[in-house]
Amino acid sequence: MLLTVLKAILLSFSFLSASALPIKDGVSTNSTIRKKASGVTSYPWDAAYQTYGHVIVGGGLTGITVASRLTEDPSTTALVIVAGSDSREDRRVYNFYKYGKAFKSEFDWQYQRDAGKIMLACFAIDVDATTQAASTKLVRQIYKTPPLSWLTTRETIPSFGAVPDPNNDGGSDADWKQWVKGIFGPVAHPVGTCAMMRQELGGVVDGRLRIYGTRNVRLIDAGTMPTQVSAHLSSTPYGIAEKAADKIKSGQ
Ligand SMILES: Cc1cc2nc3c(=O)[nH]c(=O)nc-3n(C[C@H](O)[C@H](O)[C@H](O)COP(=O)(O)OP(=O)(O)OC[C@H]3O[C@@H](n4cnc5c(N)ncnc54)[C@H](O)[C@@H]3O)c2cc1C
Repeated sequence: MLLTVLKAILLSFSFLSASALPIKDGVSTNSTIRKKASGVTSYPWDAAYQTYGHVIVGGGLTGITVASRLTEDPSTTALVIVAGSDSREDRRVYNFYKYGKAFKSEFDWQYQRDAGKIMLACFAIDVDATTQAASTKLVRQIYKTPPLSWLTTRETIPSFGAVPDPNNDGGSDADWKQWVKGIFGPVAHPVGTCAMMRQELGGVVDGRLRIYGTRNVRLIDAGTMPTQVSAHLSSTPYGIAEKAADKIKSGQ
């Protein structure tokens, strides 16, 4: 079963039901199906045979934001399914000064298990290269302009050897695109893998974040951004999550 394979942690946001009996191997030990539960469990069957207003897969930035917004109304329940084990007590998770130790640890998926399945498809369309080239070209212009020009002595990256500027206009778009494509990396901020866009253009979700072809399955995360909005992402997915929660709560 998928949940078992994932060794999923299940967090349900609702009411505490201390008297809830554990359900083993899918068989309810109580003739009454439990309606309300809360807490964290690494045993998927603890969450079985219960009804939830919403099921949220992924307890990351947007998942938890949406869950907390949807359960503002105490009569609404949500089940959050999180991959991995319960690591809330691990310093690498809660201590800002230790989080660097999480890299290349068991916390760091590095997408290896999905190698070959995920296609980030950077520069799949020309606008990717055009915007990246234009922004890096603008940086060169900024450093050539006072007062920053007074503080700099020379350009080291990309350097005028890599992207020449013979006409003193910042360099050609073609040279900038070639250089950008050669050095580009998403630096842990990937976006746009399941963009909100018309389906015929390659979009995956509609304006209400519903996945095309489904009736009520929504994708709410950084992947739905058609393009990057700012250098660091968090504020935008928080906004997406808030807006999505508003839409769900208002029945849209
Ligand atoms: C090292 C690093 C540093 C960053 N620094 C900054 C920063 O300083 N400022 C900033 O603004 N942004 C930063 N970001 C980017 C920011 O963290 C992300 O853009 C943001 O978390 C995206 O939110 P999300 O909800 O789309 O995805 P996530 O927050 O990544 O949430 C996705 C969740 O889904 C879970 N999941 C995935 N697959 C499954 C599955 N099959 N079953 C169950 N659960 C699953 C994951 O475990 C995860 O909890 C950083 C990112 C990284 C990796």
